[in-house]
Amino acid sequence: MQAVTFQGPGEIRVEDVEEPELERPDDAIVKIDAAGVCGSDLHIYHGRVPVEQGFTIGHEFVGTLTAAGPEVERASVGDRVLGCFHTACGACRACIRGDYHRCQYGRTFGHGSFLGNLPGAQAEQVLVPRANMTLRRVPEGMSPEVALFAGDVMGTGCHAVWHAGMRAGDTVAVLGLGPVGLCTVQAARASGATQVFGIDTVAERLEMARRFGATPVHLTDEDPKRVVRDATGGAGVDVAVDAVGDVAPLTLAVSLARDAGTVSAVGAHATVGELPLGLLWLKGLTIKTGLANVIAHVDRVLEMISVGLLDPSPLVTHRMGLDDAVEAYQLFDRREALKIVLSP
Ligand code: NAD
Ligand code: ZN
Repeated sequence: MQAVTFQGPGEIRVEDVEEPELERPDDAIVKIDAAGVCGSDLHIYHGRVPVEQGFTIGHEFVGTLTAAGPEVERASVGDRVLGCFHTACGACRACIRGDYHRCQYGRTFGHGSFLGNLPGAQAEQVLVPRANMTLRRVPEGMSPEVALFAGDVMGTGCHAVWHAGMRAGDTVAVLGLGPVGLCTVQAARASGATQVFGIDTVAERLEMARRFGATPVHLTDEDPKRVVRDATGGAGVDVAVDAVGDVAPLTLAVSLARDAGTVSAVGAHATVGELPLGLLWLKGLTIKTGLANVIAHVDRVLEMISVGLLDPSPLVTHRMGLDDAVEAYQLFDRREALKIVLSP
């Protein structure tokens, strides 16, 4: 079957790989209808996150269940399903606490041996371990490309504010307005944030943030610290989200958060970096980090999409064939696309 594989920094390829086979009683095989290209894939693409040469990448998917082991109860052959971007066992200490993103046996799709050696979903088919935890049926009437968001990007946007303890009436700053940041803007508004600042440099992304109810702030043409300070009576925001995954936005998030506020780092970090610890400590900030606990959020996110409280559909700017993955990665890397959906 055809799949998108990582070859080396700046190089991916669409090539023939082995078809997946059921290995365990709770495995499923999903024939892919739609697979997303994510900012996390760009970390791999640029060599910032290590993945072996020839490994199949991609972790956002919707498809049709074509085979299932005898213990799979969540869905049946023929059902349209969406995947969460990682697996969880449901029984280890972390899962019993509800921290599915820290499952002792958790594996992330399409991230090489670094995160569980689980081949990715930018392919014709994908093996889905722990299908009872990892999969959901796509709700009646929801399009595949919208359902795709529930298992990663919108789940991550919701995690960015829910995990930070955001409450109705709070103010929020979102640094980075890629698909994750824009979903964070929606999640914050839908969860009762009274003012959301969306910070980036890309005009189309700032405009989309405005459309979603945020105050757009240009990172360099404006002074985000001043804008946020002026709009919050000098206090800063209750929750500042780094939806980029770099030291600079994380540092700015520390500056934008109010005293005893929360910095929520959903952008992925894989390096060592310096933070202004004195300021962080003096302000008494709480920092929340890590993979999003999408399995904990996915059902609520699907409900909120179903009733229109969240709407990821404007984020899909490109629909392309799996064969066009090389061009898709270049487009997304140049920030000329928001969510690109690949279909085999
Ligand atoms: P993206 O690359 O499309 O978006 C990043 C955005 O940040 C771009 O619009 C860019 O212009 C902007 N940016 C860059 N530097 C900035 C700065 N200093 N200040 C403000 N904005 C800046 O990526 P995405 O798909 O939206 O993903 C965003 C991040 O979220 C990535 O790091 C990705 O790995 C991470 N992610 C994490 C999880 C998780 O589980 N925690 C899940 C999905 C994605
Ligand atoms: Zn993703």
